[in-house]
Amino acid sequence: MLVIDPDECIDCAVCVPECPVNAIFAEEDVPAGQELFAKLNKELSRLPAWRVIDRTKPALPDADLCAEETDKLARLLR
Ligand code: SF4
Repeated sequence: MLVIDPDECIDCAVCVPECPVNAIFAEEDVPAGQELFAKLNKELSRLPAWRVIDRTKPALPDADLCAEETDKLARLLR
């Protein structure tokens, strides 16, 4: 999982079609019931532990498992 700093984002939407698991939405397009993730994104983006990604990196080893996870919040809290 990654988060997007809403203060840095210019809302260009270039990332939306680039996400391989369709996990990025413009704020106004966040699906019903998923609004919590917009708030969580903002809060996590403020934490130093969520470092800025400044280069292309390979997918994490558990990327496929994460993509299939239906309860992403529980996974995040594990
Ligand atoms: S690519 Fe995505 S995160 Fe980056 S500025 Fe555009 S909308 Fe924001």
